[in-house]
Amino acid sequence: MVKCSICGKDENSLLRVKHRRLGIIKLCFECWEVESGNKNLLPSCGGCDCCK
Ligand SMILES: [Zn+2]
Repeated sequence: MVKCSICGKDENSLLRVKHRRLGIIKLCFECWEVESGNKNLLPSCGGCDCCK
């Protein structure tokens, strides 16, 4: 079991993201939606087109 880096909730499947302030972290879907909405998430591979 992995914990969400933001809210600390245990989840089976977390999303691995690159956060503007926190670097590479894992988020539950709820936090992902919030952080994504706040434009805090960066492309994890450094801005190439492969993961859009
Ligand atoms: Zn969370």
